[in-house]
Amino acid sequence: MDNVIGRVLISEEQLQARIRELGEIITKDYQDKELVMVCILRGSVLFFSDLARRIDVPMIMDFMSLSSYEGGTSSTGRVRIIQDLNENVEGRDVLIVEDIVDSGLTLHNILNVLNSRNPNSIKVCSLLDKPHERKKDLNIDYVGFTIENEFVLGYGLDYKQKYRNVPFVGVINPDYI
Ligand code: 5GP
Repeated sequence: MDNVIGRVLISEEQLQARIRELGEIITKDYQDKELVMVCILRGSVLFFSDLARRIDVPMIMDFMSLSSYEGGTSSTGRVRIIQDLNENVEGRDVLIVEDIVDSGLTLHNILNVLNSRNPNSIKVCSLLDKPHERKKDLNIDYVGFTIENEFVLGYGLDYKQKYRNVPFVGVINPDYI
């Protein structure tokens, strides 16, 4: 990898240890529920697939894609559904899996859309919470790590659509912004 990564913020070992803990908590909370686990593409794909393996209840997986940052490092505030769910979530227990909540605009929009479809419940699991620039008052039910207001990449998170395959979460080298 080139020097786009300034430093490692969360190592592979730290990620997997926390995901194991989250999986155990979610497993307890979703006993006897109709779990639909929703992967918000593309950033949460690695987190989603690791987390799903640590949740020991029957589940349906579904995928949704929205645009927000449009390739840069700051929020435009615009959110658009590019790909919607295949499943009908009415009466089901939806767990939204996000990579990172920053301003909260993306999640706010997703919650509005999915709440209008009358699920039995909706909860949110985000790998990262970056609360400093929050513009919407949101409850995140399961948080992996709370981080400072820095631009991070790796483990699903991109910079200009690249570096999602980096196996840890890193902070961008300031020379790149
Ligand atoms: P929000 O709408 O909460 O401001 O932003 C949510 C989306 O913005 C995330 O799902 C993610 O795609 C992107 N995002 C926010 N902060 C970062 C960051 O530090 N790094 C990367 N790569 N994406 C981010």
